[in-house]
Amino acid sequence: RAKAEGRSGYRIFEPSMREALNERRELERDLRLALENDELEIFYQPFVHADRQAVSGFEALLRWRHPRRGLVSPGVFIPLAEEIGLIEQIGVWALRTASAQAANWPGDLILSVNLSPVQFRSRTLVADVRQALARSGLSPRRLQLEVTESLFLDDGDNTLAILTDLRSDGMIISMDDFGTGYSSLGYLSRFPFDKIKIDQSFVRDMTLPENMAIVRAVIGLGRALKMPVIAEGIETVEQLRMLRAEGCREMQGFLFSRPRPAGDLPRILAEVQAFWASEREAAHSVA
Ligand code: C2E
Ligand code: MG
Ligand code: MG
Ligand code: MG
Repeated sequence: RAKAEGRSGYRIFEPSMREALNERRELERDLRLALENDELEIFYQPFVHADRQAVSGFEALLRWRHPRRGLVSPGVFIPLAEEIGLIEQIGVWALRTASAQAANWPGDLILSVNLSPVQFRSRTLVADVRQALARSGLSPRRLQLEVTESLFLDDGDNTLAILTDLRSDGMIISMDDFGTGYSSLGYLSRFPFDKIKIDQSFVRDMTLPENMAIVRAVIGLGRALKMPVIAEGIETVEQLRMLRAEGCREMQGFLFSRPRPAGDLPRILAEVQAFWASEREAAHSVA
């Protein structure tokens, strides 16, 4: 009996492994065609300056409209693209497309684009970024690049050389998801980031004393190193007020807007304006 169970257990295991593998192969094959089939799209989420009470820019977040699966999350297809050698191509497409759209935005709104650590292994990264700007006419001062801590697991000298080149052009370099990576803080003193984005996992539950302690520590670190701290993942007015009280100035999260298609930008700007107007009203009626 035990033998039979063992055998049946094995039989159950085998097909599910095969299914997972087939599923992955299928997704891989589809992703290779996604660019030419025009299935990739960029959504935009605003980040907001709490003192100016206005949108300071938008983060470009990739979406994949799969013909059968619907919207596939970048959390799924970006790691896949990195693994199968597609991220360079997809990354350049995202930079060009987002820069072209941002060149038409009103005022001096910043475009923020995520760069994968894998893109830093490409010899043409700096040239690709410069070309995207040249083609679109977007000023380098209006382009922010977001990198993560895992970048510094690779060749640190190469990474620093690339970041230094981009920054000397006037681009804004931000450390994304800060506090979730390998947290060797040495790179913060070796490279002058313009901003630190504290990871949303710490913002999500600031009522936990240990999360609040990390938020405070990161804001303090940013202040000491003269790197403004952006908070992401803000969903409630309570979180907004706590972060402002801690000295955080730039904010991003569903409270202001979810990431939305490019056509929604004028509406997002109007909604954020309305949000601050009602905040001011609330503050007045309390006083
Ligand atoms: P990220 O760069 O840290 O982007 C922030 C993520 O948090 C986005 O997820 C955004 O939708 C989500 N988010 C923002 N505010 C809130 C909030 O208030 N609550 C919650 N629960 N979530 C919030 P998304 O769009 O699914 O992107 C996931 C990740 O995929 C990004 O994390 C980034 O690492 C990667 N990614 C997206 N687009 C690109 C790209 O063009 N290139 C590269 N290399 N990576 C990208
Ligand atoms: Mg980001
Ligand atoms: Mg992030
Ligand atoms: Mg993230």
